[in-house]
Amino acid sequence: MTTKRPPTLLEKMGLNTPMALALHLPSRYEDETVLSTIEEVIALSKFNAMQTQGVVIRNQVLYRPRRQMLVTIEDDTASLQLRFLNFYPSQQKQMAVGTHIRVRGEVRDGHLGYEMVHPAVRAVTPDAPLSVSLTPVYPASAGVSQTVIRKAVNQALKDPSLSESLAEFLPPKLIAEVSAEYDWPQLQEAITFLHQPPAQVDTQALMERTHPAWRRVQFEELLAQQISLKRAHATRRQRRAPSFTKKASGVEQGLLEAIPFELTKAQRRVWAEIGQDLSQAFPMNRLLQGDVGSGKTVIAALACARAIDHGYQAAIMAPTEILAEQHYLKMKEWFEPLGITVAWLSGSLKAKEKRFAQAIIEGGQAQLIIGTHALIQDKVSFAKLGMAVIDEQHRFGVRQRLEIQQRVGSELFYCHQMMMSATPIPRTLAMTYYADLDVSVIDELPPGRKPITTKVVKAARRDEVIAGLQDWLAKGLQAYWVCPLIEESEVLQLQTAEASFEQLTLALPNFKVGLVHGRLKSEEKAAVMAAFKANEIQLLVATTVIEVGVDVPNAALMVIEHAERFGYAQIHQLRGRVGRGSADSVCILMYAEPLSLAARERLQTLRETTDGFVIAERDLSLRGPGELLGAKQSGDAMLRFVDLQRDAWLIELAQEAAERLLAEHRDLVERHLERWLGSRIEFLKA
Ligand code: ADP
Ligand code: MG
Repeated sequence: MTTKRPPTLLEKMGLNTPMALALHLPSRYEDETVLSTIEEVIALSKFNAMQTQGVVIRNQVLYRPRRQMLVTIEDDTASLQLRFLNFYPSQQKQMAVGTHIRVRGEVRDGHLGYEMVHPAVRAVTPDAPLSVSLTPVYPASAGVSQTVIRKAVNQALKDPSLSESLAEFLPPKLIAEVSAEYDWPQLQEAITFLHQPPAQVDTQALMERTHPAWRRVQFEELLAQQISLKRAHATRRQRRAPSFTKKASGVEQGLLEAIPFELTKAQRRVWAEIGQDLSQAFPMNRLLQGDVGSGKTVIAALACARAIDHGYQAAIMAPTEILAEQHYLKMKEWFEPLGITVAWLSGSLKAKEKRFAQAIIEGGQAQLIIGTHALIQDKVSFAKLGMAVIDEQHRFGVRQRLEIQQRVGSELFYCHQMMMSATPIPRTLAMTYYADLDVSVIDELPPGRKPITTKVVKAARRDEVIAGLQDWLAKGLQAYWVCPLIEESEVLQLQTAEASFEQLTLALPNFKVGLVHGRLKSEEKAAVMAAFKANEIQLLVATTVIEVGVDVPNAALMVIEHAERFGYAQIHQLRGRVGRGSADSVCILMYAEPLSLAARERLQTLRETTDGFVIAERDLSLRGPGELLGAKQSGDAMLRFVDLQRDAWLIELAQEAAERLLAEHRDLVERHLERWLGSRIEFLKA
C-alpha cells in the first residue's frame, strides 16, 4: 500500500516537474558578483543593494524599544552596523564575534550612524569566491525560501529529461525568418541563461525583460497564445448552435413595446452586435461590459426574447440570491404579460418547489429560467436551451460556464453565451486570459441620470449624518445604510448590522427601517427587498449582500459605514445602487480614524470620480488581473512572461509564425501547446 504524502510547498506552487521548474523564471536578479569595501558601500549604497564583507566585532541583543539584534562588522576601511528586528538563535550563532560574514543590502543613515537593516548574510572564509552569475530571485509563495527554489531549479536544469522537454522543434527556418534581426538564442540556451545570467550581461535588458533570451521565451509563449486563439476561434465556428434570424418578432417586439424607455445609442449598438452573433449557426461567446447602471439587463432580456421567439429556452444565471431574484421579478414583470412562462430556481427553494422547477425546465414548459448556481447543479437539465446569460461573470469560474454547455438538452448543438460585467477590462488584458471572446461595451449611461455626489465624512459626525438622513426621508425619498464589512467574522458583521439597525430604528421613529443580511432565509430576504421596493420600508440597513445589481430608483442616498474597509470595486458597485432615479443622488462614505495612506487615497479617488474605467485602473494596479477576470479558479493567465503593452510588436511575429505553423507543420502545434499551456488547455475551451 502506498501512503500519499502531503504535497511539498514547491509542489503546491505547481513546481513538480523539471520542466515546470525550468519555466519558473526569475522575477528579478541580484548582483553578488561584485564585492565592495565597507567604505565604498557606505558611500554608494543608498537605495541600492551592495555586497560587502567583514569580521564581526560585536553582537548584542537589545530589548528596548523592542527585541532586536545589533551586529557590527569591520574591514580595513570602516565598520558597519547590521540591525535584525526578527532573528533566530541560529543567526546569533552564525554572526558570533570573530566570524567572517558576507552581507548584502542597502545602507541607510540611522540615528546611530550607518546601518543595514536585515541584510542577506552568509558566513564565508575571507577569500571565498564570488558568484560568477547574477543571483536569480524567483516568484515564491509565502514560506518558500529562495534557497529552496534555487536549489530545486539548479537540480532541474541538470535533469536529462530537459533536453527533450525543451528540444528545439520549431523549424529553424521559421525561427530564423521571424527573428532574423533579433539574434535569438535557442530555447534551452535561453532558459538556462535566464536562470544563470553571467556577470557581464546587459543587466538592464535582463531586468526589463528585453534581452534576446527573454525575447525568445516570450515569442514561444505568444506563439502558443496565438495558436490557441486561432484554434479556439476555428473550433467555435465549427460547433453548431441554433441560428436566430428573425428580428423583433413576437416576444421581442412585445418586450420592446413594454419597456418604459428608449434604448440608448450604446444599447442599440451592442444589441445589434449581439443580434448579429445570434443569427450565426455557431455559438456566441461574448462579454457585455457596461458600468453599473448602464442598462445591461434589458439587453439580456432582448437576447432571451429572441431565443424564445425561435422556440428555444433562455436562462439567466446570477451569482447571488438577491441579484437572481431581482432579475426574476423584473423578467416576470416583462415576460409574463407576453404569455411566457418564467421559472425560478435557487438553492433555497423547498424540495417540492425545486422538483417542480426542474420538471418544467426539463419538460420545456419553462421558457425563461432565472436562477443562481442552482441552474448548473446535478439534477438540472434543459429541454432545449438556446441562450445563456451569466451576470457578473467574474463571480463565476470558467468551469461553471462549461457546465451550462453540458446541460443544453442536446448533443447536437451548443447554446449561445453572453457574460455580463460591470468591470471594464482592457481588451489586451482579456486576451491574456481568454483565447476567444468577443467584447461589446455599453459606454453611455441612460439619459437623465443625475450625477452622484460623494461625500467623505468622519465617523465622529455620525449624529449629523443621521439628522441629514431624517430630512432626506421626510422628502419621501428612500435610502440605504450599508454596514461595515468585517472579513474576519460573519458573526461580528451581523452584530454590527443589528446594532446599527436598532440605533436607526430608534433615531427615526417616523419611518420604517428594514434589515437585510446574508444570514436571512431567502424568503425573508425577498420579503424585505419587496417591501423596500414598494416603499413600505424607507431605510434599508444592509450588509454587502446588496452589492450587486439591486435596483430601487427611489433610493438615492447611500451611507456606507467604515468605508475605509471596502475596496474600490465594492464601493463602486455599492454606490451604483443609487443615482438611478430622478432625484439628486448622494453617497456618504463614513470612515473611522486612523486612516491608512492607501485608504485615504482610495476614498479620495472615489469622491472625485464615478467613472468605472478610472476606478478599475486604480484597482488593477493593486490587485492582480486574475481576480477581476474571474480566472482565479481556473489557473494562470496564458501569458506569464509577456507584457502585451511592452511587447506588442512581438505579437505580429507570433501571429505570422502561428499561421505558418498551422498551415505547414500541424504536427508540431499540439506539442507546442502542450509545452506552454499544459493543464491550462482545458480552460481555453470555455
Ligand atoms: P446594470 O448595467 O448595472 O445591470 P440595469 O440594467 O440594472 O444596469 O439598469 C439600471 C437602470 O436603468 C434600471 O432601472 C433600468 O430599468 C434603467 N434603464 C436601462 N436602460 C435604460 C434606458 N435606455 N433609458 C432609461 N433607463 C434605462
Ligand atoms: Mg446588473
